Amino acid sequence: MANIGHLINGKTVVESSTRRQSIFNPATGEISGEVSLASKNTVEEAIAAAEVAFPAWRNTAVGKRAAVMFRFKELLEKNAPLICELIGAEHGKIAHDAEGELKRGIENVEYACGIAELLKGEHSKNAGPGIDCWSEFQPLGVVAGITPFNFPAMVPLWMYPMAIACGNSFILKPSERDPSSTLFIAELLHEAGLPHGVMNVVNGDKEAVDTLLTDKRVSAISFVGSTAIAEYIYTTATANGKRCQALGGAKNHAIVMPDADVDNAVNQLLGAAFGSSGERCMALSVAVAVGDKVADELIEKMQLAMKPLKVGAATDNNNDFGPLITREHQQKVVGYINSCESDGANVVVDGRNPAVPGHEDGFFVGATLIDHVKASMVSYQEEIFGPVLQVIRVANMDKAMQLINDHEYGNGTCIFTRDGEAARYFSDNIKVGMVGINVPLPVPVSYHSFGGWKRSLFGDLFAYGPDAVRFYTRRKTITQRWPSSGVREGVSFAFPS
Ligand code: NAD
Repeated sequence: MANIGHLINGKTVVESSTRRQSIFNPATGEISGEVSLASKNTVEEAIAAAEVAFPAWRNTAVGKRAAVMFRFKELLEKNAPLICELIGAEHGKIAHDAEGELKRGIENVEYACGIAELLKGEHSKNAGPGIDCWSEFQPLGVVAGITPFNFPAMVPLWMYPMAIACGNSFILKPSERDPSSTLFIAELLHEAGLPHGVMNVVNGDKEAVDTLLTDKRVSAISFVGSTAIAEYIYTTATANGKRCQALGGAKNHAIVMPDADVDNAVNQLLGAAFGSSGERCMALSVAVAVGDKVADELIEKMQLAMKPLKVGAATDNNNDFGPLITREHQQKVVGYINSCESDGANVVVDGRNPAVPGHEDGFFVGATLIDHVKASMVSYQEEIFGPVLQVIRVANMDKAMQLINDHEYGNGTCIFTRDGEAARYFSDNIKVGMVGINVPLPVPVSYHSFGGWKRSLFGDLFAYGPDAVRFYTRRKTITQRWPSSGVREGVSFAFPS
């Protein structure tokens, strides 16, 4: 059985310690391997390797750093089928979905290939008599990333390509639930020519994370995961003097306006609510129907459209979506459906006991549609993270927006409408970080940045894109004068102006 270790200073390290965790094939429920949970010492070894590698990497010509990223991109594309297979085996994601995830990850490597342009800085000639002033963006040193299970390829790729291209060295602590694709991808960086020690991966749990959060040699932490942990990461990292961005959970609403093209909205909602079993931080998990007429039409058409949906194993690319990550999570999702029902909502399509022939022990939940959900229900207030679409009926657009603005999360949202004025009012006034107008999953392209508002993001800067260049560098501003020979400045006690 595979025992997944760490990548430290260019070498695979498998600890002799007994702290290990099982990895499951979520489609069969069987244990497929084990992952070593790094001890404090092992994480400190990785930090030391990153610290040693940093000075030479920082001083490597920016064009050479970009060249590593170009080769890395090629290797990712060449190895895409194997990477998608690894994702499917541990996460359960169907190949068509894993391919999409990887492509979005590669876009971040492409953006990092332009690092020379992105780090050019700012220059002002003659800021004063004979004085030039410029700002440059210097790497921070050793930086770390802690990532969730649901995008084992893409989310780490939001972080380290840009961090490394900026001249930092990096330590990644991926999810212990599906670490294989993440580790394999990181190893490709060495094939791409990255010097040893610049990129390190430590698998593990709280012990590994806490070591990264408190070690003085780590300058910054990027985190993506659930809100409770994001808040803990942010408060602990900043209390330890680190720069931190911590992206958390979500509850993403789609408003369906009375004038919407409902057939189109149904098509969009299907993929956005049930794709990847709803295990996406941008999954649309609530449809807010404005008026009973559009609500009734939406429910009727969704019910019909959901009939042919296929839930099953990652090995069959004809399946629409796969299992949930663990048995525990499957039970949690079913628990939310139960509580929603006992709170008075109407389960219109019930995915609690899906038939998946040949995979009876897999962690499956089928696509579920629930009508007449109320804001007071716990299943509405919390993130379900499963293939469940809740429908809330409201009287008008203001009430729909109020609902979204009052929710503790503010990651993504969308409006389905034909009315440009309504769409503009919505995007101007909604308290959410990423907004779609007839676009169900408004995940920004790699040259914009990704992040939520409210309790979906702790910190100031979004992930990837231009914000990542700022996050992984610190500004230094230099003011320079070279006096002409023989010219001496007089003494002045006034503030220079
Ligand atoms: P999680 O919070 O359980 O785990 C995320 C990371 O934190 C993992 O690496 C894990 O090992 C570590 N961790 C877990 N418990 C910890 C603890 N007590 N102390 C220190 N570290 C700990 O999240 P998950 O279940 O892997 O991922 C799903 C969650 O991530 C969902 O809430 C989803 O919305 C969120 N997510 C958010 C975004 C975003 O961009 N906002 C993107 C993807 C996923």
